[in-house]
Amino acid sequence: MKKPCTILLMFLSFGGGKISAQQKIGDYLIQPVDFTRVHFTDQFWAPKIEVNRTITIPYTLQKIRETGRIDNFLKAAGKMPVGKITEFPFDDTDLYKVIEGASYSLQVRPDEALNRTLDTLIQIIGDAQEPDGYLYTFRTMKPEKLHPWISVNRWEKDPDLSHELYNSGHLYEAAVAHYLATGKRSLLKIALKNADLLVKDFGPGKAAFFPGHQVVEMGLARLYRVTGKKEYLDLAKFFLDIRGDGKIKGAEYSQSHKMVTDQHEAVGHAVRAAYMYTGMADVAALTGNRKYVNAINDIWKDVIDHKLYLTGGIGATGNGEAFGDAYHLPNMSAYAETCASIANVYWNSRMFLMNGDAKYIDVLERILYNGLLSGVSLSGDKFFYPNPLASMGQHQRSEWFSCACCISNMTRFMPSIPGYVYAQKENDLYVNLYVANTATIELPAGKVSLEQQTNYPWDGQVKIKVKPEKESSSFALFVRIPGWASQDAVPGNLYTFLDQQKRPIPIRINGKLVEYKIENGYVKLNREWRNGDVVELLLPMEIEKVLAHSAVKDDNDRYAIQRGPLVYCLEGTDNKDSAVLNIVIDKEATFENAFKPGFLNGVMVLTANGTATKRQIDSDQLLRSTQTVMAIPYYAWNNRGAAEMQVWIPFNESAARPKPAPSIATKSKSSSSVSNPRMLRTLNDQYEPQNSQDHNGGYLHWWPRQNTTEWVQYDFDSTYTITESTVYWFDDEPFGGCRIPRSYKLLFQQNGKWLPVEMVRMDSIRKDAYNSIYFKPVRTNALRMEIQLPEAHSSGIHEWIIK
Ligand SMILES: [Zn+2]
Repeated sequence: MKKPCTILLMFLSFGGGKISAQQKIGDYLIQPVDFTRVHFTDQFWAPKIEVNRTITIPYTLQKIRETGRIDNFLKAAGKMPVGKITEFPFDDTDLYKVIEGASYSLQVRPDEALNRTLDTLIQIIGDAQEPDGYLYTFRTMKPEKLHPWISVNRWEKDPDLSHELYNSGHLYEAAVAHYLATGKRSLLKIALKNADLLVKDFGPGKAAFFPGHQVVEMGLARLYRVTGKKEYLDLAKFFLDIRGDGKIKGAEYSQSHKMVTDQHEAVGHAVRAAYMYTGMADVAALTGNRKYVNAINDIWKDVIDHKLYLTGGIGATGNGEAFGDAYHLPNMSAYAETCASIANVYWNSRMFLMNGDAKYIDVLERILYNGLLSGVSLSGDKFFYPNPLASMGQHQRSEWFSCACCISNMTRFMPSIPGYVYAQKENDLYVNLYVANTATIELPAGKVSLEQQTNYPWDGQVKIKVKPEKESSSFALFVRIPGWASQDAVPGNLYTFLDQQKRPIPIRINGKLVEYKIENGYVKLNREWRNGDVVELLLPMEIEKVLAHSAVKDDNDRYAIQRGPLVYCLEGTDNKDSAVLNIVIDKEATFENAFKPGFLNGVMVLTANGTATKRQIDSDQLLRSTQTVMAIPYYAWNNRGAAEMQVWIPFNESAARPKPAPSIATKSKSSSSVSNPRMLRTLNDQYEPQNSQDHNGGYLHWWPRQNTTEWVQYDFDSTYTITESTVYWFDDEPFGGCRIPRSYKLLFQQNGKWLPVEMVRMDSIRKDAYNSIYFKPVRTNALRMEIQLPEAHSSGIHEWIIK
């Protein structure tokens, strides 16, 4: 980063004093064009933002009320008996995030009723604040027993799990949004009082607890930008610099294992990590700190080369909601939390503002259209927390989560999307995203309006009408050429297009072809612009096959399909027998595209010829049948109930999961002492687990039950003579809660009674292998397995086979 530029602060005044319009602070070289200046007129994002405004925000607010999160504030204010409280000390942030989202929404669409609702909620929040500014309902309401994450003294357990500073961070973000949207200082006053307490309590020679869940760093930077009060910026930097200084035991989980400036790889909890990298970028931009920049440049490269899903998701494993090792990108068990996608957008937008390179927007666009958008249903009231890239039907969007972070985060993110379209640096105007919109931008050269006409992402034709307010105006328009349009699938070396042939990307000004070169992902069009000038861009919307780096084992012998910025998937609902995991599509196959207006709110679907595979009894040969295969945009999956889904399509049969052969097990009705139908389906799916830990295949488990006797049962479709039962146990030692059982036995049904089988031979109970029991022939129509769980663990089953 070069020396920080200076921007003018808006004229702001606060209770504490006035900030003059001339005061200057250093900040990012490039500044985003505020979302309030960009008005979407398109058919893709505008309707989704409207669903967020009319459905998601009121719905989430209602759920926050129903679940007692608002009551927490009333209880802290002494206006309600405490009684039962909600589950997590960070529940306060859900209300802050919805206020942030509602404020953004108000800025674009005035709504008096919503405005008044916010006033009431802010009053309730203010009443819960302690006189010195402390705001954390879980302590203030004095529950009978303090939550185990909370220490007797303030802040002490923040490095661990108390989330006191996390709550503050989201409060600041909400407060600034509300202030800028409404001009009211009610929430800002609460936030500043809280921030002043932090300034008083923390710092050199005072409390030195690092924030366990980052976000307060970004929040303090925001408060600094609005107030110019340097203590806030200093405190943000302090919170970064005490991480990993060894005075308090740190961990990779919270990125406190090393000093932030010594961190060069993405590790630990992905949301915490990406919020921290964003905070480091903010503080670096505001202070000129090069060491932060070096660290986040290296970390970004690590993510891009090793840890990014094709959908833009980060955080491969649910174990600690964390980044996995390099190239560990499992599909069915992918965590890729919605919040992590939002955090990753924040981080990449900052990296762009710092460097002016379009590769960051390439990543941002990928997240936006895929792994982030998949987090909310088309209807706006069902949500994904993890966003997997494959499913056997065990995944389903939820109406709510007890940890509701992803839902409230979505409410605040959606209305802010217009703010990612344009950016400016003096007389350089960047066009980063293609969305039909009108925008007004103040450049030193004068005010200019832009009008984008496009049917992106379905169509690659973009028309930008340039309208300077003056008769003519001299500035440079930086037109982004998306990496995917130049056959560069994703920045970094994780993914490549099978087809490397570059296609022309014609750019015209007033109908005349322009000769250009691409620098940092942009074409610079520098000229004296006149009212009515038109720039036309034609991006090639080819259907690309994407290959992953060979070290990504989960994607071997597979490709994904992408058209424009959209990653596609196969969903059972659209394909023969509701099955897609058994499909193989040749590497040379040709895909066709067709736009379906009424389907999934209007999407481009892709079709190709593929082969469905099926196992046979007593033969390793697969049965094959050809069929037309249909793909839909990944973001739109799981809007029609649970189904099989697959992003990475096998081009070799070895990678496919053939349909099971008809067997006694597959023809049986399964039941168990757990009654989850999605888990029951995995008992007889004939998926070959790689080992007992395999999270990809789906499995049945009894977690969190321990030390109990459980059962599974097959009711056969007819009477059979059987002599053998084989089971493959699920065991996720050391991090998970399941182990092989202590013991198990088999019972068969005769005349309505359960009788034990007469054992001939039995394998020892072991993991990573099939365990068989051979018994004297019995003729029966049902078999039951009784399982004794370990004393301090649960158990689970991958597969149960009967012969
Ligand atoms: Zn989340």
